[in-house]
Amino acid sequence: MNHRNIIVLAFLFIPAIFTGSVLAIAGNLSDGIRLGLLSLPGTWLLYLAIHKSHIAWKFAAILWWCIFWTDALLRSSSWFLFKSDNDAHFIIQAIANTTLQESMEFLQFHAWSLALGFMVTILLSLAYFFGIFNLLPKLWSKKTFKSKATRYSSIFLAVLALASYVIEPSLAQHPLFYWTDYFSKIQAFKDQIKSHKHVQEIWQKNADNNLLSSQQAYATQTHTLMITDSVTSQNLSVCGYERHTTPALEKYASSFQIFCNAYSPAASTISSLKMTLTEAEKSTQEQYASESMLAYAKAAGFKVYWISNQNDSYISSLFGSFVDEQVYVNHRSGRSSASLDGNLLPVYQKILKDPFPKKLIIVHFIGAHPNYQLRYPESFSKFTTETNDIVEQKLEQNDIGFWVQQQRNYYDNSIVYQDWLIDRFFKTFQNNDIAEFRSFIFVSDHGNEVGHEIDFAGHSPNTKAGYQVPLVIWYDGMKNKGVDVNKAINTADLDNSLMSLMGLHEKNEQYHSPDFLSQNYLFKPSADWPYWQ
Ligand SMILES: [Zn+2]
Repeated sequence: MNHRNIIVLAFLFIPAIFTGSVLAIAGNLSDGIRLGLLSLPGTWLLYLAIHKSHIAWKFAAILWWCIFWTDALLRSSSWFLFKSDNDAHFIIQAIANTTLQESMEFLQFHAWSLALGFMVTILLSLAYFFGIFNLLPKLWSKKTFKSKATRYSSIFLAVLALASYVIEPSLAQHPLFYWTDYFSKIQAFKDQIKSHKHVQEIWQKNADNNLLSSQQAYATQTHTLMITDSVTSQNLSVCGYERHTTPALEKYASSFQIFCNAYSPAASTISSLKMTLTEAEKSTQEQYASESMLAYAKAAGFKVYWISNQNDSYISSLFGSFVDEQVYVNHRSGRSSASLDGNLLPVYQKILKDPFPKKLIIVHFIGAHPNYQLRYPESFSKFTTETNDIVEQKLEQNDIGFWVQQQRNYYDNSIVYQDWLIDRFFKTFQNNDIAEFRSFIFVSDHGNEVGHEIDFAGHSPNTKAGYQVPLVIWYDGMKNKGVDVNKAINTADLDNSLMSLMGLHEKNEQYHSPDFLSQNYLFKPSADWPYWQ
């Protein structure tokens, strides 16, 4: 290939490379590559525009690239500004809550940098289109596209481009679909916020009316509720798992109460949290409950914090926006987010130092949520494909495939990290909090199936591991200690148990779920127990 050909090809591919690499460099490598591939038909348009030299093809090519470049720049700008995808909930939330006047102020504030960026983009685009339509045809010859190398690589790129249009997660990144979806997300969020505000008003009104004046003597209290995600107790060595995943919990076994036989009311986050933090029941899962433990805490003068390493617009608008202070450290939503739960530690420590007398701190971890290998730092890679221990042998015996075996290694590593976090958070709590009465609870919203029964890894409404979770409790003056592998606990009873720890009671208490901290606790699951059958 001669120099001329290389220049011609480079000129043709610059737009696609630019489109993909802006977003990739800004922070989202995978979507950047997808976007670059999706933009490739534009290269073909450029080829036609030069080859046929017709104004319509030129117009089509210019329009195509203006759309892709604007899209790439808009989507990258949120990475440069917030280190985040622009569909992260806090950005959607901000946009959904922004009035026209606020937007104008924002634009005015950034007027100079926006104008500068706009000018540079326009000038570069003009230079490019001038070059490709006026200078390139002079280098162009029929031979340019005759070489084998050019042909084969064109076919290869055409196949990649085609694949990016056929595969759905990839097609979703196309500007047309991405922005349509984006506006419907904003609309959905606005609707959600509207309904959640109303739900929260009902919670507060009922709590204000039904709270019995507290007889609790402690004027200063701090309660920490750590809700993690997707951790099943079946993988905790403190609960009998063959791999040594929980050295810290084993160390604390004589000072904590550790329940291994607890069950979440649902196998997914939103349903589980609704039943754990409010009076919602399984039978009425789709509706919102009229009462919430969070509202009782607020009515009783607690300052309630919601600090989260999850990025979920529904949860933050239902729970996060209800409390007194909300902090989110994870700027990407879903399974591909890579923010570690340890990022919450400094936030937690700062809150413990807040001199407010009565505090309820909800710490929301992403836990062992898929993708498991993103849930722990490299130094926690304790189990690998080379481990070859009894767990791996058992998986082999049960015909669990290689992929799930590998997931099990990742999953167990994330459990080791969770165990380490419990230790760090508990120590931070002990060292920084001076309240007269303190409690610390760690629970998972639900479990995960990772080759326990079936050759599958993920959220699992149809197997026991999808529901069986650890429940770890510590509070000042606690009498019962140790590991309990038998006593069945319904984690949906958490709200009332925590309320009794806080010294809060409500009128007509006999109608409400039992307190698992009391001696005569009775496990009363919903009628469809066992949920997984
Ligand atoms: Zn979950």
